[in-house]
Amino acid sequence: MRVSYHEDYVIPLPPRHSFPMPKFSALRDLLVEEAIVSPDNIVAPEEADWDLLGLVHTRSYLESLRCGSMAMSAIRRMGFPWTQALVRRSRLAVQGTVNAARMALEDGVSGNLAGGTHHAMPDHAQGFCVLNDTAIAIRFLQESGLIRRALVIDLDVHQGNGTAKIFEHDQSVYTFSVHGEKNFPLRKERSTRDVPLPDHMEDADYLRAIDTHLPSALNESEPDIVFYVQGVDIVKGDKFGRLNVSRGCLRARDERVIRSVAERGIPLVLLLGGGYAATPELTADLHAEMHRAAASLGLISSPQPAS
Ligand SMILES: [Zn+2]
Repeated sequence: MRVSYHEDYVIPLPPRHSFPMPKFSALRDLLVEEAIVSPDNIVAPEEADWDLLGLVHTRSYLESLRCGSMAMSAIRRMGFPWTQALVRRSRLAVQGTVNAARMALEDGVSGNLAGGTHHAMPDHAQGFCVLNDTAIAIRFLQESGLIRRALVIDLDVHQGNGTAKIFEHDQSVYTFSVHGEKNFPLRKERSTRDVPLPDHMEDADYLRAIDTHLPSALNESEPDIVFYVQGVDIVKGDKFGRLNVSRGCLRARDERVIRSVAERGIPLVLLLGGGYAATPELTADLHAEMHRAAASLGLISSPQPAS
C-alpha cells in the first residue's frame, strides 16, 4: 500500500500541549517495522497550493492563516499556537490526502498518515483542525473529473461538523458521522447520516450502531470513492473520548468498514482523525489497527511500486 507521509507532519508544540504530535512519526515507524508499508511506498507530499485550499476555504481565512494575522480568539479556537511550521504542516497534510486519494483510485486503497481534520470550517480553524483535507480532496477530484460522488465515513468520536457543514447542500457528497452526542462540538451540524451515541457506551452497543448504519450509508451514497476518518478516540481511557469501547472493538469496527468498502470494489482512503490515549505511542498503535486490518484482509499484500 502506498501512503502519504512527511517528516514535517510533526512540529514542535509548547510543553504539556494536549495534542499528541509525535503520533505521526510513531505510526510511520510502526507500519514500516510491521512490514505493512515498505519505505519505498511512502510518498512525501509537497505543500498544497493556496488555490487548492481555496476550493473549500474562504480567501480571508486563508489570508489570515498565511500572514499569521489571525485574531487571538481564532487561534484559541484552533487549539494550536500559530507558527510557520503549523501552516506548512497543515498544507503538507492536505496534499497528503489529495495524493492518497489519487493513489486509492489507482491501487484500490491508500492512506495518509495524518488527515481527517474534520472540524475545520470554510472560514475558521477549530479543535486542532486547521484545514479540511477531506473536503479539499473531494472537491479537487470532482473538479478534475476523477470522481462524481464521494462518501465520508467519519467514526471519530467527535462529529465531523466541518465536513458536514461544507457539504450540507451538496447531494454528490454523503457525510456519515457516528459520534458522542454530548461530546465536542457542542453545536452539531447536519451530516447526511448522523448517529449520536450516549457517553460510556460499550462494545456490543457500539458495534450494533455501526452494523445498523454502515450498510445504509454505503447503499444510499453510491460513491466513486470512500474517505474513512478513523478516529481512535472511541477507545476507553481516551482523554477526550467518553466511551468505554475496547481496543478489540476498535479493530473489529475498522475491519467491518474496510471489508464493506472493499467488497463493493470502491477505492478507499484511510485517514487518521483524532486520538488522545495515554501516550502518543499508544495513540499511534491504535491508529495502526486500521492498517493492520487492511493487511489482514489481504488488501495490501502485494505492495505497489512507488511512482
Ligand atoms: Zn476526535
